[in-house]
This record gives sequence, C-alpha cells and structure tokens, in this order.
Amino acid sequence: MKLRIACLQLNPKLGEFEENANLAYSLLQETFKEKQVKKPNILILPELALTGYNFQSQQRIEPFLEETTKGASTQWAQKVSKTWDCFTLIGYPEKSLESPPRIYNSAVLVSPQGKVMNNYRKSFLYEADEHWGCSESSDGFQTVDLLIEGKTVKTSFGICMDLNPYKFEAPFTDFEFSGHCLKTGTRLILCPMAWLSPLSPSIKKDLSDIEKSRLQKFYLEKIDTPEFDVNYELKKDEVLPTRMNETLETIDFEPSKPDYSNINYWILRFFPFLTHVYKRDVLKENAVAVLCNRVGIESDVLYGGSTTILNFNGKLPSTQEELELYGQTNSLNPSVEVLGALGMGQQGILVRDIELT
Ligand code: GLN
Repeated sequence: MKLRIACLQLNPKLGEFEENANLAYSLLQETFKEKQVKKPNILILPELALTGYNFQSQQRIEPFLEETTKGASTQWAQKVSKTWDCFTLIGYPEKSLESPPRIYNSAVLVSPQGKVMNNYRKSFLYEADEHWGCSESSDGFQTVDLLIEGKTVKTSFGICMDLNPYKFEAPFTDFEFSGHCLKTGTRLILCPMAWLSPLSPSIKKDLSDIEKSRLQKFYLEKIDTPEFDVNYELKKDEVLPTRMNETLETIDFEPSKPDYSNINYWILRFFPFLTHVYKRDVLKENAVAVLCNRVGIESDVLYGGSTTILNFNGKLPSTQEELELYGQTNSLNPSVEVLGALGMGQQGILVRDIELT
C-alpha cells in the first residue's frame, strides 16, 4: 500500500504554546492549502511539539501540562486532522489523573475524524525529562494495528530516548526499541523527537561558560536568519542528500544540510532491521521508520533537526562487491534507504510517499 507521510520539523519557543500552535498551523496551511501539496495520510510532529521541551523544573512545566488526550495539543491535532483528513501524531506533556497524578512525556495519535486512537508514553527517559518530574511509561513500548485507507498497518511508537539504550546503561547491542519493533512485525515506526545536535553546547564538557554562551548566540542567529527559516522538501530525487558515512566529529553547523552523524546513529540503532551478511532472512517485508525531530536552541541545548524517513527494504546482496556494503551500519548499507531528510537547523516540512509492500 502507498501512504503519504508528512513531518513538521518545528522550532517551538519554550512555553509559548499559542505562538507555536499558530506557526505550526500556518506552515501546514502554506504547504497543503496555498501550495496545494496533496495532503498526507499521516502527519507527525516532534516531541513536546507545541510547548517546547527543556523545562528546568516541574514548577516551570506545570502550566503547560495537559490532561490525558484532552489538552490543547490534542485539540490542535484534532483540528488539523479534520482539516486535512489525516492521522496526526503529536508529542505533549501529559498529566494523568491517577492518584497521585503522574507526569508523562507522551504522544497522542488522532484519526482523520478527530478521534483519539492512541496515547503512547515515553518508556526510556532522558535526563531532561527527569528535571520536570516525568515518569516513565509503565506499559513499555506500544504497537497497534492501525486501520489506514481500509488496510491494517502494524504501527509502533517511540519517543526520542526510546531509541537509545535504557538510561544509556543497557548494553548497546540490546537494541530494545528496534528489537521490539522487529519482533512484533511492525511495518511503520513513528517517532516524535527532540534529539540533540552533537554540536549542542550543553554536551560540550570542555567549554567554558563564556565559550558556551558565545556558541549559543551563534546558533540562535543562524537559526533565526530568515533565509534559513522554512524549507519544504517534497520531491524525492531532486533534493536527496548524498549518502554519507559522517561520524560525530565531522559535522559543521549548516542549517540546510541534514546531519548525517545523527542520521547514521539512528540507522545504527535500527541495526536489527538491516539486512547484513550474517542474518539473511530477518525482514520479510519492508518497514518504514519516520523520525520527526525539532530544531532550535533552548538555553544551551541545540537540537539536531535532520528529520528523516527511512525505508528498510530487506534486500540482500546480489553481487560479490555488494557484500561489503551490507556490512556497513550506516546509510551506505543498501538495505536502508534514506527516503528524505531535512536540514539540521531549519524549520520545514518533509513529505514523502512511502510504500509498504
Ligand atoms: N538521546 C537523545 C539525545 O541525545 C535523547 C533526547 C530526548 O530524549 N529528547 O538527544
């Protein structure tokens, strides 16, 4: 089946819900109304898309917490879904009405009719989540059968850190999330994210405070420059970045360029989906992973953008020369196709038609 996927790569301002919601809506309107781009079947937004992410305390996030699938983000998604007749998946900070109440980092999925279909709570927490009093999901990773265009699609949800080893402590090769997706026969993997750039001043241990704030200003200016403001990526071949095996050390901050060090890391975290020389028959059908990240800077945290749609095609090497490529664990491996990627520092919309065989 064919599906049209759209990812909205936003630069939300921390705590400016109204402004963020209006901006997100106007980007959609510009694309799907004014430019008359054919509307998507599924629209994905980042983690905590309309509230911002890096809240320093529970007190700070409190005014922005939303009752489970009933708050402002869900309502925004319902409006969008009904307007463009699509599923919408959006990250939001949830306050559940259990007693005692708990806070979760969640993503709600709304149907084209505006019905709440699923509420996924982040399972693996990042330090930043703990700063604002977030609890981890007690249900673990979630997989649902989604009825889209009359067909059932096994769909799993992950939020950012879910792609990492649990607490960065579990063995790297446990591949908890991607292993779960493979085991459950997931065909569509949807991930709202607020993933950091490897250039983020917050993770540069060797910088002085002055150097950090200088860098903060530098990134802020680059991201706010209008020419870097909005980027629509619609057609496949035209703008597809060259395949690269960049590593974490090699990137410069170029807003319009996808950060392949992050993309390759994500591909590596989907290792179980790569066909390689040792495992010949894992993937019977293809699977598509949609990683919708945000951009921008919140205090000293720089997010990495590079929103990506990956197709794991399950192909096997057909020639001797190819064999070596199948040993790669990055975008050079022929069993993964980068169907599209946005830049590391621009807001934008990535639209792709994908096929589930
Ligand atoms: N591992 C991710 C990162 O380094 C986690 C961020 C998140 O969960 N938002 O960016």
